[in-house]
Amino acid sequence: MENITRGGQFLVKETACEDVFSPEDFSEEQQMMAEAVTDFVDREIWAHKPRFETKDFAFTEEIMRKAGELGFLSVAVPEQYEGMGMGFVSTVLVCDRISGATGSVATAFGAHTGIGTMPITLYGTEEQKQKYVPKLASGEWFGAYCLTEPGAGSDANSGKTKAVLSEDGSYYKISGQKMWISNAGFCNVMIVFARIEEDKNITGFIVPFDPENPNGITLGEEEHKLGIRSSSTRQVFFNDTVVPVENMLSERGNGFKIAMNALNVGRIKLAAACLDAQRRVISESIKYANERVQFKTPISSFGAIKKKLADMATNCYAGESGTYRASRDIERRIQIRETEGNSHQEAELKGVEEYAIECAMLKVAVSEHTQDCTDEGIQIFGGMGFSEETPMESAWRDARISRI
Ligand SMILES: Cc1cc2nc3c(=O)[nH]c(=O)nc-3n(C[C@H](O)[C@H](O)[C@H](O)COP(=O)(O)OP(=O)(O)OC[C@H]3O[C@@H](n4cnc5c(N)ncnc54)[C@H](O)[C@@H]3O)c2cc1C
Repeated sequence: MENITRGGQFLVKETACEDVFSPEDFSEEQQMMAEAVTDFVDREIWAHKPRFETKDFAFTEEIMRKAGELGFLSVAVPEQYEGMGMGFVSTVLVCDRISGATGSVATAFGAHTGIGTMPITLYGTEEQKQKYVPKLASGEWFGAYCLTEPGAGSDANSGKTKAVLSEDGSYYKISGQKMWISNAGFCNVMIVFARIEEDKNITGFIVPFDPENPNGITLGEEEHKLGIRSSSTRQVFFNDTVVPVENMLSERGNGFKIAMNALNVGRIKLAAACLDAQRRVISESIKYANERVQFKTPISSFGAIKKKLADMATNCYAGESGTYRASRDIERRIQIRETEGNSHQEAELKGVEEYAIECAMLKVAVSEHTQDCTDEGIQIFGGMGFSEETPMESAWRDARISRI
């Protein structure tokens, strides 16, 4: 077994170069997966990029369904729940490649496969997993994650949404207001966090949603956003929504832990989700700089433009290298923990938690690189970069959300 670097150890431990994983180490299966996802994105998403700027929420949903049919929503889902059960690196790889063409699909994909599905695969009972996960993995159902409230953003444990147990103890009634809920407009299953009595910590629930039979759930209008314009983002109101007690996720008061762990895994995936956006902006910028002639010279010959392209490529390379290095270390820790007797669930949770430092640094660095990259992309395109006719302005607007 190779000598892996534990979480945070890169600071204090010498690492042999053969122990550092990079994209050049992808297996044949991973390379094929990367190509399949990229082909799908080029054909189904990139070719129709302008549609995502017109608040075409149905189109995002359609793409998500197609991604489900091709198995891309099930990469991280264990095989016993009809997923592909691939490792952490492959999960990160699919997240990377599917996210580059538009932030609208990146957000829908991340919200569904990550925070919308993962709390059930990681914390659900066997019955809950059998009931919900296969349908989420195939894209028959879509997931949303309802944590944020008007008064509870960064301070996520301060939410006011209440869950009140019925007299016979068979169900809870959930009432409250959630906001900024991605995928709200087309989801079938919501992970909802609510407080029982005066508990210190919130509790997680699985709440099915059927607009034909809304069970006290109403949706606000679509938010009008700077970017990711075809990603559905709505408020969700719960008014005495009946949720059977067997839909509680994990134990009473465990919701804050579930919410934070889901977001922890989300950080490295968010870094991955920014990588292909950078690659595409860099490729378009190089193409344009070679074609655009000023002073009888392609602008790519000018030192200032070369410097921009060099900085964009440097940051992308650094972010990609760090993301895959950490992903492989996490994957190995998960495998080691499983051989030591942890269940897959425990191994994944603890494995990622050990690398919380790397996940947080990557999220910050790569999201900032993406903003810089798209900004320089606009600059290289000059006036055309500011026009909706080129892909730069939407890439720049979409990049902004990753830094929040
Ligand atoms: C497009 C979009 C999609 C979203 N999707 C979802 C979703 O699917 N589900 C969901 O539950 N939520 C979702 N969110 C909500 C998102 O998680 C919150 O916006 C985020 O947690 C920040 O909360 P806030 O907006 O209330 O900002 P606030 O918490 O009010 O923060 C405002 C500012 O204060 C800073 N700040 C806060 N606390 C501190 C502190 N202790 N020290 C220093 N600075 C601090 C913040 O960093 C920020 O700069 C989404 C948001 C957006 C915009």
